[in-house]
Amino acid sequence: MAFASWRRDYLSRPIFRWAKTALPGLSATEREALSAGDVWWDAALFTGHPDWRQLLATPAARLTAAEQAFIDGPVQQLCAMLDDWRINWELRDLPPEVWQFLKAERFFGMIIPERFGGLGFSAFAHSEVIRTVSTRSVAAAVTIMVPNSLGPGELLLQFGTEAQQSHWLPRLADGRAIPAFGLTSPEAGSDAAAMTDRGIVCRGRFGDAEVLGIRLNWHKRYITLGPVATVLGLAFKLSDPDGLLGGPAERGITVALVPTDLPGVSIGRRHLAAYQMFQNGPNWGRDVFIPLDHVIGGPEQVGRGWTMLMSALAAGRGISLPSLSAAGAALAARSSGSYARIRQQFGIPIARFEGVQESLARLAGTAYLLDAGRWLTCAGLDQGRKLAVISAIMKSCATYRLRAAVDDAMDIHAGKAVIDGPLNYLGNLHRATPVGITVEGANILTRNLIVFGQGAIRCHPYLLQEMLALEEADQATGLAKFDRVFWRHVGHSLKTLGRAWGRSWTGGLFAPAPAGAGDLASHYRQLGRYAAAFALAADLALLTLGGALKRREMLSARYGDVLAELYLLSAVLKRYEDEGRQAADRPLVDWCLATGLATIEARLDEIYSNLPSRLTAGLLRLVTLPLGRRRRGPSDRLSRACADLLTSASASRERLTSGVYLGQGEDGLALLERAFTLNLEREPIVRRLRQVGETDWRAAAERGLLTAAEAAIMAASATATERVIAVDDFAPEALRPAQPERPAAAATPEAAE
Ligand SMILES: Cc1cc2nc3c(=O)[nH]c(=O)nc-3n(C[C@H](O)[C@H](O)[C@H](O)COP(=O)(O)OP(=O)(O)OC[C@H]3O[C@@H](n4cnc5c(N)ncnc54)[C@H](O)[C@@H]3O)c2cc1C
Repeated sequence: MAFASWRRDYLSRPIFRWAKTALPGLSATEREALSAGDVWWDAALFTGHPDWRQLLATPAARLTAAEQAFIDGPVQQLCAMLDDWRINWELRDLPPEVWQFLKAERFFGMIIPERFGGLGFSAFAHSEVIRTVSTRSVAAAVTIMVPNSLGPGELLLQFGTEAQQSHWLPRLADGRAIPAFGLTSPEAGSDAAAMTDRGIVCRGRFGDAEVLGIRLNWHKRYITLGPVATVLGLAFKLSDPDGLLGGPAERGITVALVPTDLPGVSIGRRHLAAYQMFQNGPNWGRDVFIPLDHVIGGPEQVGRGWTMLMSALAAGRGISLPSLSAAGAALAARSSGSYARIRQQFGIPIARFEGVQESLARLAGTAYLLDAGRWLTCAGLDQGRKLAVISAIMKSCATYRLRAAVDDAMDIHAGKAVIDGPLNYLGNLHRATPVGITVEGANILTRNLIVFGQGAIRCHPYLLQEMLALEEADQATGLAKFDRVFWRHVGHSLKTLGRAWGRSWTGGLFAPAPAGAGDLASHYRQLGRYAAAFALAADLALLTLGGALKRREMLSARYGDVLAELYLLSAVLKRYEDEGRQAADRPLVDWCLATGLATIEARLDEIYSNLPSRLTAGLLRLVTLPLGRRRRGPSDRLSRACADLLTSASASRERLTSGVYLGQGEDGLALLERAFTLNLEREPIVRRLRQVGETDWRAAAERGLLTAAEAAIMAASATATERVIAVDDFAPEALRPAQPERPAAAATPEAAE
């Protein structure tokens, strides 16, 4: 007891005083963002000592029979109705029958419980639907995503009053109401909290009655589904200058439902987002009056908009774009493997060139890893967690890796993917990738500021508690709380130092691996080794840089990359286990680990080269990278093995690309699949002919060296290959624009008035 009070007064008090000046206070927005959402496996990694049993005990994401039936039924029907070329270049919208089908089959109500007329799907089922539709049409996938993520559905489910839920959710579920979510304004993009959109509490007429409500003035842009929305989930800053609500005049960011047919609402103009013709556009309101009960959650949620948004984003951000990205990577991998097998140059399939194999290996590894991450994240979400940091990791990593994957696929296809037209199955995806990188938290900001910036505070076992203790209004209470947490933190740091040292100096040999890990044990051990190194490096950076770490975005991004790699590589191991250890997929697991661990070492090395405290950097280097950077990524042999999985009719190829919609009839992708299959049948015939010195199959047929069936295969294969290699061309008159391309007027409220 005496020691405790001595420690508090003589050790903790000066540290408490120093920390109060060294660490910046939390802004109200930051405090709200930090309180939204949950941590999970990210926090386990942050301890430096993840318990693999916890990861492996997480039930694998699975579909129910009803969810599977939806994917086999309406999702396949929808895909058959979609044609991105027609949507983007001819209709510039989804066809009316597709809109109707989406509403009738409740695609907009996947997250809405059945009791409100929705489908009540799990996060995984929702993700699977987005995955398949994305491989057919980006425009359709984005159209489905919005109502199922930030569109007011999720906000209403989490925060809506009973009356709001029973009015709006059935209408959103069956498409009678089309939602859009309005946060971004011209002056406030990434810094959305800086919006100038205002609401003033006042009395006004709504219908026949005079009620307490809000007069709104706003200008939003980039709003997906905005031009066709019947209800906006609008974020604005609320003031109550006359004190009609009681309490302070400035009430903060608030989110309300604004029916778009109210007087004063201007909606309907369109942006063209990377020529993806999902509905997107600006909107604005002039003195639009809504009753107070239009605030989502009612008057109690006035001013809580930012927390609500962060919480809703924690779910949607982990599903929509990661699913689209994993799907895109799978499509890029499958099509590139097939194309590389049938396309010949210099007399052999381009799949045999090592340069092409290197790109194919990246495609296969990326497709495996992104789906692994998606599965694990959905498993976490389906346990009811709102994964704030993990969803930021998934969103930024998946969209960046999709872009890299599509670039690889474009390089392999070369002219075939560059020339636009209905036969091109990659060009549109290539155009679309920057959209995912920009939306739901632009990637540079997410990688540099959110993943580690938020992750360190949320996932660190003690940091947030320390920060909250420092913020306590009452000094004595703050000091008492700080004293309790700080010394536990010190104990944790010392343990982490010992752990990181021991694991690094023994090459991870004695780091824990789960029982039964078998030949995967070394992968678990390496992850444990780098998790400990990361935890130590993070702790020392927080200690030496304090609040300044927030401004050192380049450092923060590298820490974020290490955390992201640890998460994704854990997901890879989990996937391998959940799929029953498919031996044929082992090269993919090894490739992911080799690539990811090399990235982790590179980032740690870069961190140590740039930490301002050279003493800390030297200590970290000595403890965690005693032999310097040793990992150089996958070997050429491993890359070749991964590439082979894509260029042959392997079970791995099917697992990697399950759920990819492979087209029908004369679609480019369907033609490719057919040519690939025929090519596999053709190759043994070609080999046999070569053995007898014949390279021309037609001559061989004439010489009677082929059976009729073999000749038919050769002919069909030649025709199918020709059709795949073909690209579109257009009559010049077909390319003349039907209407002027430049907008007649700038889309601003001022121009419109
Ligand atoms: C097709 C499309 C659909 C969209 N749909 C919606 C929607 O439905 N509803 C809605 O409300 N919004 C929507 N948005 C808006 C989207 O969320 C914003 O575009 C996004 O927040 C980025 O804002 P900005 O484009 O103005 O970029 P800016 O904020 O101007 O950012 C420019 C660059 O600076 C970087 N940056 C900014 N701040 C920092 C920082 N502190 N550290 C490091 N880097 C930083 C960003 O990462 C970005 O790379 C959509 C946008 C697009 C393009």
